[in-house]
Amino acid sequence: MKTIEDLGDLAGQRVLVRSDLNVPIKDEVIGDDGRIRASLPTLVKLAKAGAKVIVTAHLGRPKGQPNPAYTLAPVAKRLGELLQPEGITVRFATDVTGDAAQTAVQDLDEGEVLLLENVRYDPREESKDEAERGALADELAALADVFVSDGFGVVHRKQASVYDVARKLPHAAGGLVLAEVDVLKKLTEDPARPYVVVLGGAKVSDKLAVIDNLLAKADKLLIGGGMVFTFLKAQGHEVGKSLLEEDQLDIVRGYLNEAGDKIVLPTDIVVAPEFKADSPATVVAADAIPADQLGLDIGPDSAKVFAAEVAAARTVFWNGPMGVFEMAAFAGGTKAVAQALTEVDGLSVVGGGDSAAAVRQLGFADDAFGHISTGGGASLEYLEGKELPGLAVLEED
Ligand code: ADP
Ligand code: MG
Repeated sequence: MKTIEDLGDLAGQRVLVRSDLNVPIKDEVIGDDGRIRASLPTLVKLAKAGAKVIVTAHLGRPKGQPNPAYTLAPVAKRLGELLQPEGITVRFATDVTGDAAQTAVQDLDEGEVLLLENVRYDPREESKDEAERGALADELAALADVFVSDGFGVVHRKQASVYDVARKLPHAAGGLVLAEVDVLKKLTEDPARPYVVVLGGAKVSDKLAVIDNLLAKADKLLIGGGMVFTFLKAQGHEVGKSLLEEDQLDIVRGYLNEAGDKIVLPTDIVVAPEFKADSPATVVAADAIPADQLGLDIGPDSAKVFAAEVAAARTVFWNGPMGVFEMAAFAGGTKAVAQALTEVDGLSVVGGGDSAAAVRQLGFADDAFGHISTGGGASLEYLEGKELPGLAVLEED
C-alpha cells in the first residue's frame, strides 16, 4: 500500500481524507472522542505539509437523507478544539459535495482542514449499485487532487467515500490505517504465545466467523458477554431470561465438540430479575441460572480466572464487553479483564467500539493497552480472514 510520503509534495494540493469520526453523540455532546483523536495525526501531517485538507466522514445511520440528528457539526467543533493547539483552522461545509462543499473548498487555504457534512446524508454512499456509488465518488474526487484513506473503521465497507473514490484519484493509506493493519498482522501471523482471545458483547452471531478463524490460531478463547448463554445452553444448561440465540446452538455445539479444550466459559454469572441498573444483582453458578432472572455479567470467580489467563498471555485480542458495563452493577467482569490486559507482557489489543468505550468509561488510559482499535467490524473481518474492499483498493494503482 502506498503511504502519504509516496504522494510526493502536497503543498497547495487538495487532499481528500476519509476519516472515521463516528463517535457517540447525545444532545450535541460527544461521548467518547477516541476516534476523533485517532484521526488527528494524519490530518496534522497533511496540514503541516501545506495541503488543503478536505475530510469526508459519516455519523450514525441517517439512511441517505439529511437529518440534523446526525450532523457532523459537533464533530467539526471538537476537531477545531483539538487542532487549535497545532494552529490549524477547521472549517465545516453544510453539505456533502454540493454548493456549500464546493465553495468551501475554493475558499480553503493551505494548511487548513475542511470537514464535509455526513457523507451518509447521500443515499449513493451506501448504494449497492456501482454506478450510483461511482457518481458520488466522482463528485468527491472533483473536490480534490489526491485521496488518503484513513478511516480504518470503514475499510470493510464497499462505499463511495471508502472504496469507489480511491479508484478515481491517486491514493494512499493514512497512518491510522497502516498502524491498524500492522497490529492485525501481528495477531494473525505468528503471534507470540500464549495467545489468548477474549470475546464478549451482545451477539454470538456477530462473532461466529471470527471464532471460527481464531479457534485455529489462539491457544485459549475466553467467552463472556451476552454470547455466553448460547454456549451454556448448548452445554445443556438453562439460561433463564438471558440473551439466547437458538438458531446458533448447533454451530456453538460444534465449536465445543471440536475445540472444547481451548474454550473457557464462565463458571459463575451475575444475574438480576430485570435489564435495569438498579435491579437487585446476585451471583449464581453458571449451570444454575434461575428461570426468572437474566445474566448480565460474568461472576467474580470467572473474572479472576479470565484475568489470570489474560495476564499470563504474550498476545491478547479482546473484543466485546464481559457484561452490561454501562450499568455499574454489571461492569465488574469487563473491568477485571481490562485491568488484566494492562498487565500483559506482550501485545494487548482492544477491538470494538463498545469495548473501547468501556475501557475509557472505566477510567483506563488509552496508553495502558498495546493498541485500541478504532474499527470493530473492520478488525473482526480482517481476523476472519476476509478481504477488506477499502484495503484491497489501496493496493491497486
Ligand atoms: P463491541 O462494540 O466492542 O464489538 P458489541 O457491540 O458486540 O461490542 O457488544 C456490546 C454490548 O454488549 C454492550 O452494550 C453490552 O451492554 C452488551 N452486553 C454485554 N453482556 C451482555 C449480557 N450479558 N446481556 C446483554 N447484553 C450484554
Ligand atoms: Mg458494538
